[in-house]
Amino acid sequence: MYKNLSKNYIFKFVAEEVKKYKEKTGKTPISLGIGDAMFPIPNTVKTAMENACLELNTVKGFRGYPSVEGCDFLIDKIINFYREKSVKLDKNEVFVSDGAKSDLQRLLLIFENGKKAVIPTPVYPVYEDLLKLYGFKYEYLYANESNCFLPTEIPKCDILFLCNPSNPTGATYSKKQLEKIIDTAIKNGTVILYDNAYSCFLKGNILETVYSIKNAKKCVIEINSFSKSCSFTGIRCGFTVIPKELKEYNERFKRVLSSVFNGVSYITQRGAEKIFSTEGKEFVKTSSKIILNNAKLIKNAVKSSGGVCFGGNSPYVFAKCPNGLTSKEFFNILLYEKGLVCTPGEGFSTGGENFVRFSAFLSENDCKTATQRLKEIYKKYKGN
Ligand code: PLP
Repeated sequence: MYKNLSKNYIFKFVAEEVKKYKEKTGKTPISLGIGDAMFPIPNTVKTAMENACLELNTVKGFRGYPSVEGCDFLIDKIINFYREKSVKLDKNEVFVSDGAKSDLQRLLLIFENGKKAVIPTPVYPVYEDLLKLYGFKYEYLYANESNCFLPTEIPKCDILFLCNPSNPTGATYSKKQLEKIIDTAIKNGTVILYDNAYSCFLKGNILETVYSIKNAKKCVIEINSFSKSCSFTGIRCGFTVIPKELKEYNERFKRVLSSVFNGVSYITQRGAEKIFSTEGKEFVKTSSKIILNNAKLIKNAVKSSGGVCFGGNSPYVFAKCPNGLTSKEFFNILLYEKGLVCTPGEGFSTGGENFVRFSAFLSENDCKTATQRLKEIYKKYKGN
């Protein structure tokens, strides 16, 4: 139901404010705003896409519509990726997509309209927009400083959205916390839509796939994306896993796809296949390391200047506005006093007010300048 949507999507607001700033000042600010990829795609992906294009230019190699569920060569690589994490999947449990956002939208079509959803908040604003558009009933699961932005008391519901690590807070559930959530979900018959778009940034003991948890296949649909891991924000490719334990939903999704989707282009899938090559894996590792290091520097800059912030396992730092400023007031201060762009927390459903999100998708050089400016602004506004 379009009429239920809020007037402005937060990233559109940010883009418009930046445009006004540029017109007024003639300067280009440093962006810690939108979480868009910044590294050029690796050569191996480029070459595979070029070759796929050349193949389509031949009589023998030409292909028309792709399979809606994805090409076997890519699905095999995805299955192998899970196998390396000791998770066994079959071909018909994996669906290649044109990105997590599109699949989240399509996934809602497998649930009846009267079903009740729960979304953590603050969170990626698309979840709430989709629920409004499709007319689902929903309630919030409040993430805040007192629960370290990781609520675990899940109310009875049919659909639970989880974003781990979270956009915008960067908070990441531990295995134990996820086990508790999964136990509750199984007890209540809840299906979890587990948005794993930032899993490539996870290191150490934190789970890269929720299916590492014993009973997760009974209640979790995992949604993944190559957008942030391999600079595919513009190319568009990802995948969703619906385990056979959720047979009914798996079958429904297949049926829905055949009505609302025509698959991902062959060229794109040949490119995505190479993300799993040695060169592709090295690219993911190196680029995510740089981004995580930027996030660490941003976090340190805020903290060392007396600010309060959260995050660390993802490209986002969620920082409290100093002096009780609203997120849009602080957004303006950062932009006009320091030439820095952030994303106001009020745009991430409810509960994000008085916070801003800093994105670490920026060059190391820009990050150096930005962190210096952040230190200055936090020192200036601290205690005023
Ligand atoms: N999920 C989350 C939590 C995101 O933050 C984003 C994009 O920022 C997406 C999904 C969209 O991913 P994709 O580019 O694969 O559509």
